[in-house]
Amino acid sequence: MSQNNQKSTYDDNNIFAKMLNGDIPCHKVYEDDRTLAFMDIMPQAEGHVLVIPKQKAVDLSDLEPEYASAVLMTSKKVMQAQREVFEREGIIQMQLNGSQAGQTVFHYHVHLIPSSIHELGRHAATQADHEKLAEIAKQLAAVIPAS
Ligand code: 5GP
Repeated sequence: MSQNNQKSTYDDNNIFAKMLNGDIPCHKVYEDDRTLAFMDIMPQAEGHVLVIPKQKAVDLSDLEPEYASAVLMTSKKVMQAQREVFEREGIIQMQLNGSQAGQTVFHYHVHLIPSSIHELGRHAATQADHEKLAEIAKQLAAVIPAS
């Protein structure tokens, strides 16, 4: 865990690294050779998805160009799926760099949240129902074309 004014070093045992290794499960929405998208278990709104690179990056400063590009391309696919499934145009794209900014998992990730900045729920606060997360993941995955 990083101190306020110091960048974390990459921890191979962080929760998202464990997901990438298949050591812990996630409600997968999309995967390709450079990225994985899955449901946030403490969503700030219904349909909150995280997109991560398959690269050991703590934050934006570590992200290699091909992974930066891949994360954005996957984010576009996920956002389009959220627009279709939730029948709303407004999707928040958020990304926190460092504990001072509120980052809590130190593997780079983009948040895609079907909400408004004026209605956003609390960050990483309340666990969602897993059956509901699984159902939403299925709905989103169904409208994303295979890569
Ligand atoms: P950060 O604070 O680093 O920007 O966001 C980390 C996000 O990961 C939070 O929104 C939090 O709810 C989510 N999160 C934390 N632990 C887990 C987990 O075990 N599984 C999933 N799917 N999301 C998690």
